[in-house]
Amino acid sequence: MPRLDTVVEEIAARMRSREERGKVASYIPELAKVPLDQFGIAVFTADGEMFTAGDADIPFSIQSISKVFTLTLALGKVGDQLWNRVGREPSGHPFNSIVQLEYEKGKPRNPFINAGAIAVTDVLLAGHQPREVLGEILRFCRFVADDDTVAIDEHVARSEKVTGFLNTALANYMKAFKMMENPVEHALGVYFHHCAITMTCRQLAMAGRYLAFSGRLPGKGVSVISSERARRINALMLTCGHYDGSGDFAFRVGLPGKSGVGGGILVVAPEKASIAVWSPGLDPHGNSVLGSLALEQLAKAMHWSVFGG
Ligand code: GLN
Repeated sequence: MPRLDTVVEEIAARMRSREERGKVASYIPELAKVPLDQFGIAVFTADGEMFTAGDADIPFSIQSISKVFTLTLALGKVGDQLWNRVGREPSGHPFNSIVQLEYEKGKPRNPFINAGAIAVTDVLLAGHQPREVLGEILRFCRFVADDDTVAIDEHVARSEKVTGFLNTALANYMKAFKMMENPVEHALGVYFHHCAITMTCRQLAMAGRYLAFSGRLPGKGVSVISSERARRINALMLTCGHYDGSGDFAFRVGLPGKSGVGGGILVVAPEKASIAVWSPGLDPHGNSVLGSLALEQLAKAMHWSVFGG
């Protein structure tokens, strides 16, 4: 087995020299300002070691990766009842698509497309004010990252709010089907803010530990969720975590992962490592070009794919 520190360094060096980097998300104006020439990687292993390279300590907007944390909280709150509100099947459609919602009467395909994540946020809001729910989400992120400096970028949240016509449409559509219990503006306000949480690769790899290690924080004896729940969230990440690029990500990388349009990807190598990569250039599905490529190389070099090989 090659040494992980060497593999991580070599991957970062290769990514630095790549010309084809995709395009930064431009539909959220604040994200369009992020320089394209950045790449970071952080790998936290079962022995409690952290390996990083490149821009692993630069904070970025985690965007849809936050949907993993809100899903964890919503399952903790209502358990399997969550599946009355949102499905568990890959959508095969872009993350902000509305077409399936009409056929499926306002029940989103899965918790990772935007409609599904807004429905999950609505579940978290039951009986609470938006501010309280946002506080709960941020506290959870800080707890699993073991870092109280994890914060929300208000500029990004505002930028998304003023241009969030599609997300507003999705939320209203669900409301029309009586699939939203709280005011649409409350659910959207919390959603835009949790997408605007910023983390570094190092913080994100820390935050993913509970998914990589059967619900526990290794070395701490702390159980965040049950191993069964971690396994199920990982299954959803594998099948739905990259939207209509999920099949290709499974084919190339072979690990559960969740991407965000900030260019981050959180990936789980069960019982082996929690991995975070970031590079802001995206492919047409909204997944980081260099991030996916780096993970493909890492999984191959370390033989970490859940499919063997
Ligand atoms: N906040 C983004 C949106 O709602 C999240 C999308 C993503 O990261 N894929 O469009």
